[in-house]
Amino acid sequence: MSVTRRDLVSGLFAMPVIAFLSGRHALAQGAPLPLPLTPSCDSGHALTPSMTEGPFYKPASPLRSNLIVGEVRGAPLRIGGHVVDRACRPVANAVVELWQADGNGEYDNVGHRLRGHQRTDEQGRWSFVTVVPGEYPGRTRHIHFKVQRAGGRILTTQLYFPGEPRNARDRLFDSRLLFDIRSAGSERLGRYDFVIA
Ligand code: FE
Repeated sequence: MSVTRRDLVSGLFAMPVIAFLSGRHALAQGAPLPLPLTPSCDSGHALTPSMTEGPFYKPASPLRSNLIVGEVRGAPLRIGGHVVDRACRPVANAVVELWQADGNGEYDNVGHRLRGHQRTDEQGRWSFVTVVPGEYPGRTRHIHFKVQRAGGRILTTQLYFPGEPRNARDRLFDSRLLFDIRSAGSERLGRYDFVIA
């Protein structure tokens, strides 16, 4: 079955809030975000651009998709999407790792707050429950990622938020790396599909 990117996006965002709330519970137990099946690459097969790692990466992040552990400052954000190859085939068992600042723009460089990784499911899906990162000096709002298929090259990149005043002034900003952001009550939802070699 062929599914267009538009169908994909509307499929996720059309979910009623109650489904998201129950989905959050499932997510905490490692279940994937309820995304539709494999996306099509109707907007092209370009690889997701890579981007500098920056100074705050730490190896050995925990395996988890819910990053809200203890007290974490920031507005609720739920993000997810697929990892696919250039032919739009889902990449199962790829590692998707995230690290980000909290709502105050601060990274945890001692522990692993707002750091984690997971593996995509058989449909290439990934998702995290987290918070909207705050800005910090010199940068627009962003979240860092590393994505890697088993035995493959690591894609290191950053994803951005649409409509941010600082995007235009950020030297690293790339419009190909924008989340598709929607709101569901007090929670924001972000979609992005990584395309890797
Ligand atoms: Fe950063």
